[in-house]
Amino acid sequence: MKKILEELNRTDRIAVTGHERPDGDCVGSVMALYLYLKKMLPEAVVDAYLEKPSLVFDCIDGIEELKTDCPEDICYDVCIVIDTSADRIGAAKKYFDTARKTINIDHHITNADGCGTVNYIKPDASSASELVYELLEEKDLDASIAKAIYIGIAHDTGVFQYSNTTPHTMEVAAKLIGYGFDFPRIIDQTFYEKTYWQTQILGRALLESIRFMDGRCVVSMVDRKTMAFYQVTPQDLDGIVSQLRSIKGVECAIFLYELEQQTYKVSMRSNGKVDVAKVAAYFGGGGHVRAAGCTMRGTYYDCINNLSLHIARQLKEAKA
Ligand code: AMP
Ligand code: MN
Ligand code: MN
Repeated sequence: MKKILEELNRTDRIAVTGHERPDGDCVGSVMALYLYLKKMLPEAVVDAYLEKPSLVFDCIDGIEELKTDCPEDICYDVCIVIDTSADRIGAAKKYFDTARKTINIDHHITNADGCGTVNYIKPDASSASELVYELLEEKDLDASIAKAIYIGIAHDTGVFQYSNTTPHTMEVAAKLIGYGFDFPRIIDQTFYEKTYWQTQILGRALLESIRFMDGRCVVSMVDRKTMAFYQVTPQDLDGIVSQLRSIKGVECAIFLYELEQQTYKVSMRSNGKVDVAKVAAYFGGGGHVRAAGCTMRGTYYDCINNLSLHIARQLKEAKA
C-alpha cells in the first residue's frame, strides 16, 4: 500500500473507524489517522466513528469529536477500517458497505486477507497504531498525532513488554516521544491507573480463579450480578486476563464475563505454547497468537469445556 495521502488522492468524504468495545490501540490508531487527515486535507469531510471509549482516553486531543453513533446515511468516498476486519465495526458497517473505496489497516493474524479494496495487513506488527505511523509522512506529524500513536502502541504491547514488541516498534516509539508529550503520565493515566472498583473486581476475579490441566490453564469469570454489585462495565475488566497470565506455570489464561444469560465474552492470553488465535477463530472470534477473544453461548461450564478441548489438544501437540 502507498502512503495514506496518495491512496486518498482528491477524496472529499472520508470515514475512519475501528472495532466495537475499542481498546487503546483502536482508539489511538483511529484518532491519530483522524487528526492527521483533518490537518492534511482541510477541504475534505473527515469523520471518525467509534463506540464511546473509556474516559481514560480523554487525554487524546480531539477525542470529543468522535462520532459515537451513526444516525445519518452518508455515502463516503473512502471508509478506512483499523485494527479489525469489517465484521466487528458495529453500526459503522453501513458506511463501509456504501463507500466507493475501502481501506483496511490491521495486524490481526485472523484477518490476514483484509476486508478492504486496499489492504495494509501486517500480522507481525505490534499494533494497528504502528501501521498507521508507517502510512503517514513523518514530517507532517505533531505532538497530538504522536501521542495518539504512542498510546496505541503502548497499550497493545503491554507497555513494550509483550513478544510483539520489535526493534522497529521501539524505534517508532523513540521518534514519537521526540515530539514532546508527557509520556510517563499518559501511560500511567491510561494503562496502569485503576479506580477503586476496578481494583476490587480484579481482586475478586483473581480470588475466584481456578487452575486446571496441572496448573497450565487458569480461568475466571465475572457474571452480570457481580458487575452490577461493583458498579462496573466491561471496560473496567480490562487487564484481568493479563494478570491471570502472569501466574507462574500458566500457559493459557481464560477470562469470561457475562454479556447476557448464557452468553459470554471470552478473552484468552497465552505464554507461547498455545495459539489462542486458533482457539478463538474456531469459535467465531479472532486475534493474535498470544492474545485473542470470541463470544460464546451456553453455560459457563459448556464454554470452559469447549475451550479446554482445543487448548489441551494444542498443549499435547506442543509436548509431542
Ligand atoms: P481481548 O481479549 O478482547 O482483549 O482481545 C484480544 C485480542 O483479540 C484483541 O486484539 C482483539 O482485537 C481480538 N479479539 C477479541 N475478540 C475478538 C472477536 N470476537 N473477533 C476477532 N478478534 C477478537
Ligand atoms: Mn484492538
Ligand atoms: Mn490492535
